[in-house]
Order: sequence, then structure tokens, then C-alpha cells
Amino acid sequence: MAATATAGTMIIKNGHVFDPLNGINGDVKDIFIRDGKVVSSLTAAQQRDAIVIDASGKTVMPGGVDSHSHVAGAKVNAGRSMRPEDHYKSVRAKTAITHSGSGYTVPSVYKQGYDYAAMGYTTVFEAAMPPLEARHTHEEMRSTPILDMGAYMVMGNNWFVMRYLKEGDIEKAAAYVAWMMRTHKAYGIKCVNPAGVENWGWAKNIHGLDEPNIHFEVTPREIIRGLAEVNEMLGLPMSLHLHANNLGHPGNWQIARDSLMIPAGIGAKNKSDLLWAETKENARRRQTVYLAHAQFSAYGGSSWRDFTSGAADLAKYINQVDDVVIDSGSVPFGPATTMTGDGPAQHDLYMLTGQKWSNTDVELECGSGVLSLVYMKSSPVHAVQWAIGLEVLLLIDDPWKTIMTTDHPNGGIFTQYPQVLTWLMSRKARDDTAKECHKWAYDKSTLGGVDRQLSLYEIAIITRANPARTIGMAYRKGHLGIGADGDVTIYDIDPSSLDTNDTKALTAKLSRPDYTIKDGQIIARNGEIVSVTEGRRFYCRPFVDEDLEKDMLADVKDWFKYYTVGFANYPVPDKYLKNPVAISVNRPLEAEALVRR
Ligand SMILES: [Zn+2]
Repeated sequence: MAATATAGTMIIKNGHVFDPLNGINGDVKDIFIRDGKVVSSLTAAQQRDAIVIDASGKTVMPGGVDSHSHVAGAKVNAGRSMRPEDHYKSVRAKTAITHSGSGYTVPSVYKQGYDYAAMGYTTVFEAAMPPLEARHTHEEMRSTPILDMGAYMVMGNNWFVMRYLKEGDIEKAAAYVAWMMRTHKAYGIKCVNPAGVENWGWAKNIHGLDEPNIHFEVTPREIIRGLAEVNEMLGLPMSLHLHANNLGHPGNWQIARDSLMIPAGIGAKNKSDLLWAETKENARRRQTVYLAHAQFSAYGGSSWRDFTSGAADLAKYINQVDDVVIDSGSVPFGPATTMTGDGPAQHDLYMLTGQKWSNTDVELECGSGVLSLVYMKSSPVHAVQWAIGLEVLLLIDDPWKTIMTTDHPNGGIFTQYPQVLTWLMSRKARDDTAKECHKWAYDKSTLGGVDRQLSLYEIAIITRANPARTIGMAYRKGHLGIGADGDVTIYDIDPSSLDTNDTKALTAKLSRPDYTIKDGQIIARNGEIVSVTEGRRFYCRPFVDEDLEKDMLADVKDWFKYYTVGFANYPVPDKYLKNPVAISVNRPLEAEALVRR
């Protein structure tokens, strides 16, 4: 390493590079980074000032991208405060450059940032931000070290959205969503148990796509279709992100499949004015619906007594279409904290388990529930959930339709990702675990008959390239093309001698990469944080016609009397965001100016 290395300038030499958006499958090559961005080469003078890492015999991938995790906001904090027992055993000691932190299933914000970075991840998106809790969400993201972040705003039971969609006024719905995203600094649209969470205010839920809810008399189908249309009318970077109805209920694979059919034919449109880093493959999203944590929506049977996996049926549909992406919400066993905007689903889980449970109604907008839980190999239902969480990644043929998550901390903890990846890469790892599980694991699923073992290239797709592409971040993330962010993970894995039957070693190597590099700077080495940077906060600024926006705002101000907060206190001020990156969307042409961000 040069004594006077320039920050953000680096050469990673001779590694086996896995960069699916550039079609690079383990080829030995050098990666050059200058001022934090990937470049084609460095001059001799620049090379003298560069940090040089010898990656011979190692695996080099873009930095990990998590497109669905619960890491910031009121419900995450509720999970921390209601579970003191979660904080005893898992601690990260303070060092000269890091804060201390604690928490296993719901770590403190500091520990969360360090743990993700130590595992090779540089980008994490919060999956559910209620507008009224947006300030809190941004405060926690601001305190999270290192990671680049953004948050999806919960819209599927919002009174204004439901009213406009019931009236069939899609344009005003779009104007409302655009204004909300700008004022609350949101990145994408999340739809949780559409129409059902509103019914939870009357201790009810919704169980069919064409069942109108109380008072608003709007159906899940109308909400899903309407928000998907709004999404593409605005041309947001990511598609509608859907948490389907009947989540966690036996037999729900059918409503999940039927929900995924609703946006068919709308077509993905990206109207953001961004400069895209170079890629060989198309880095633009294809999907118009991104199904969250498919494991929780791929259940067969009709009750817990005849519970089976429905993953094969759900996968069969997804294999036939091109407008759907799923993330897995896999279940790696052990303690978890379930937290979701789906209040009634959490209540059902409370009735089943009797565990500590909290519930919140977010006025006019949505709700949430939090529950502590332990997934046990001895439990028949948990064993099937484990199998389903792997089936959804192995039975969908095209890895570009899948993303690996645990829906942290719902199905499992993000620090368990390496364990999930090991099961995906090794049939032996699955068989070994199945032997320790209740026999339902293989009896009530197809997993025991699945021979597929994912390659490192496919792992790079489902942990980097595809999460980035699905959420519209592949203009700079999830690959190592020229102009991409200099985010790199170097694993001590030699692809030429990789033995996926040595499952313990594989999990250990995936857990603790040799290097995590962000913006061309070494952040973590062998699991230790060696420098702490401040991440970016991505959000969208969609534009609509000014007169339309004025009309919509008049409605909003009229209805605002039902809120307990004042209108002026509603938006999130700029000062809540550190290093904000605002992505303009649907901006009028004359105002266009391409700016590299
Ligand atoms: Zn989630």
C-alpha cells in the first residue's frame, strides 16, 4: 500500500470477479477505483497513490445490496425496547473509531451499520416507513454508520390514497403520492395488506381481493392496480413493493399469485433523470410488482393441521411471467422479532404463540405490530417455513426474478444471510439441516427433491445485481461497471477449489469477508471495522402538473383536520437527512439537466 494513498483510489488485483450485470463470471481481472467510482484504468501517477489489494485466489463481488430489511423507524425501535433480553448476549465493543452497540434480532443503529458492513453489505433499504413516522425513520438512518440507505413509504391503507382510488381519480392519487414522497423523503411505494390494515381498526381483516373494506369500500385489487398505475405514471425508479393479503395464513399462495397478476400489462417506466454507469446487461428494472418476503405468502393447505408448502405453485406462475420479482424472506431458525405494517397478521401470530406483542395504529395511514418469536427446527410449521424460504429461491428458474432476504428480523436476522446462502449453494447443507428438523421439512415441501445448487455467479445476482436492479439503484449499485460506486466485497473463497460440501467453512467465509470496500475505501477487514464513513440517503422527488397538485393539496388540507399533528409539522425537513441524494422523477423536460450523483 502506498504511504500517501489517495482516499477513494484503489486497485484490486487478480481476483475472480463475479459481476452479473456485466456478464463477468469468475474471470480473473483487476478493478480500478478513482475518487470512489469504478474506472477503466489508472495512470501511472494515480497507480502510485492508489491502495493496492492483492485478491489472487479470492472472490470479488460488488458490495452487497439489501432491498428489504427493517432497520429504522418506530416499529424497529419498539422491537428494541420491548426485548431487553435481546441485548444481553450480542454486543459489539467500542473501539477507537466505533460506538459500542447491542442487540441480536434488533441491533442498535450503530451495531446494525457495522454488522452489515462487516458482512460485505454497503447498501440497505428500509422496507416500511409510515409517513407519520418518517422523521423517526430518517433520524435512525442518519445515525446508522457507513450504509447507503433509503426507505419505502407505506401507502396501501392511506386514507387519501383509498379515497382517490375509490373515486377512480388516479391522477390525484399520483399527485398525492408524488407530494408525499417529496415531502417525506421516501424512495419507493410499499403496499402492505391492502385494504386489510384499515379494517384492523375495527378488529377485522380482509381475505379476498374483491372484498371492499369498511367505510372506504375499496378492494385490495383496486388498491394494488391503482398504486401500480401511479408508480408507472410517475415513473419511479422501483416498482410497487407488495406485501400481499392473508400473509402468514395457510393456503395463501393463491391470493399471492392472483395479486401478482393484477399489475399485468402496465409496463415498467423509468422517468428519473440519472446518469447510468456502464453495464453490458440491461440494468433497468423489468418488473411492475416486487413481492416482499415470498416465504410468508407461499403457504399451502387450509389450516395449520394440513399445512404444506405452496412454493411450487407460486413459483410455477412466476416462471411464466416477466413482470414479477420476489424477495425470499427466508427462515434460518433461531430467535427473531417479527415486525410489520400488517397489524392483523401480527395479532394472528400472537394468538398462535402467546409471545410478547405490541400493536400500533398510525392515524389515517397504516398500522403495525411487533412480536418476539423463536423459529425451532423441532416445530413442524417452522420446519416447513425453512423449506419454503429456500424453495422460493430454488424453484424460480431465473435468478433475475429473485432476491435473498430474511425479511430481517421477521424470518431471521441479516447476520444469518451466510447460512441461507450456504443452503442455496449446497444440497448437502440442506440435507444435513433437514435431518435435524421435524420431518415436515421435506415431507410437506418439494425441497428434498431439489438438486439445484446456486453458483457464485447466481449468488452475486440474488445479493447484489438483482436487488439493485429491482429497486432502480443499478444506475450506480450492484455492479462494477465504469461509473459505478466503488463498493466491493472480497471473500476468501477460491472458486477454482471451492468445496460446497465443507458447509461450515463456506458459511464462515461468507460471514467474514477479507475486505468490505465502500466508495473505494476499506471499511472492514476480516470482520473488524477499520474506517467509519457516513452513508447517503436516497429519496425520490416526483413531479406532477402544478394545477393538479394545487387541487390535490386543497383536499389534503381539508382532510388534515382528522390528524392530531399540524400540517406544518407533517413534512420531514431537509436537516433530518445526512448526505441526501434526491432523485428527480417525471421532471418537466425544460428543467432537465443530467447531473452525475
Ligand atoms: Zn418486511
